[in-house]
Amino acid sequence: MLAKYETNETQGQVVQTQDVLLQRAVQRIYNNSPFYRTKLDKAGISPGEIRTVEDLDSVPLTDKEELRLEYPLGLMAVPEEDVVRIHSSSGTTGKPIIVPYTKRDVQIWAEMMARSLELAGVKGRDRVQVTPGYGLWTAGTGFQAGVEHLGAMAIPTGPGNTEKQLEMMTDLGTTVLIGTSSYGLLLAEEIKKHNLNDELRLKIGIFGSERWGDKMRRRIEDILGIETFDIYGLTEIYGPGIAIDCAVHKGLHYWSDHLLFEIVDLDTGRQLPPGVEGELVITTLTKEGMPLLRYRTHDITRIHLEACSCGCPYPRIDRILGRTDDMFKVKGVNIYPGQIDHVLSLTKEIGSEYQIILTRVEGKDSLLIKVEGLAGAEDGRLALKCQRNIKTRIGILANVEVVLYGSLPRSEKKSKRVFDLRDQGL
Ligand code: ZN
Repeated sequence: MLAKYETNETQGQVVQTQDVLLQRAVQRIYNNSPFYRTKLDKAGISPGEIRTVEDLDSVPLTDKEELRLEYPLGLMAVPEEDVVRIHSSSGTTGKPIIVPYTKRDVQIWAEMMARSLELAGVKGRDRVQVTPGYGLWTAGTGFQAGVEHLGAMAIPTGPGNTEKQLEMMTDLGTTVLIGTSSYGLLLAEEIKKHNLNDELRLKIGIFGSERWGDKMRRRIEDILGIETFDIYGLTEIYGPGIAIDCAVHKGLHYWSDHLLFEIVDLDTGRQLPPGVEGELVITTLTKEGMPLLRYRTHDITRIHLEACSCGCPYPRIDRILGRTDDMFKVKGVNIYPGQIDHVLSLTKEIGSEYQIILTRVEGKDSLLIKVEGLAGAEDGRLALKCQRNIKTRIGILANVEVVLYGSLPRSEKKSKRVFDLRDQGL
């Protein structure tokens, strides 16, 4: 059972009860979204039946694949004249997902982002360097809108060109750095290498879009002498800025007046109570352009409803603990173990067992794949062949090591094949 958010007085003042928002949202989504009207009709659910968060448990989940099938604008739930912008997911494993936004969607997103920045301590006098990408990608534009909404100064460098980044950072006296954690680390290492620390005025780092452990966090904070904040979001639900950690750093507050978070059991898909780990599922409460009901994020976390000592009345989730699927990201490319598996299967001279080992060398991702050579095959040539196949099919450069047949561990249960060591031994 999910408790409601009006359990303490402060929360009640700021956060409306989600049940009322939910009822309105479900009715509106049913009326306006042909996709959801069909989906709910098929499930035999009339929108009036969904009165509480608990009632949502009977509503079927929505997965990314369903959105892909509606490419490009099948999920649009407003007349086209109301759409002011689209963004798109990266689409590395098929067609991207196109997300239409209305004027109000764009405003609400900017408000949520501004709240996020404020919670991280960003103020009107701050100078905020925005290093995520602009364009179809949501991050750059989303951060910039939030910075402007807050009234701080955006320095929209976008990604890459480290030298230019450092020049802007020192010349303009950037106080807040926004980016992916790996780019944050790369910049930190560069700053250390060039001994630029004394010329910097950085105070705050806001990083997101990938999982980053405490070890990496400490490393960035120590080198730059800043406090860092973990920001969360996904393209299908606005983009970044739907949750962020506060100065207490015990979970990320999320904006429950616009978004309803549920945690579901990985196997059964049933709702789980607060405090229990499972998959995060999100329902948009106020989104117009592309509203979503029970969207599966595939991110593993927990919900916390108890008050946070920072005083922010919004509920929290834990930092993302992992992904339901074993997807990993190398040099910005999303990779599934299944893809590696498939490519390796093209090479007859190796066994079926393999290990994927991810490390970070000097701030850059490194991918090592261990495979077993069958008798008679020449290791060097074999490694090169696998490497070439991976480069051609997946588009990334991997180191391949051929080990003795039978030397990789076997397990009767599912073997652990992916070892992400990027947060350790930096
Ligand atoms: Zn807090």
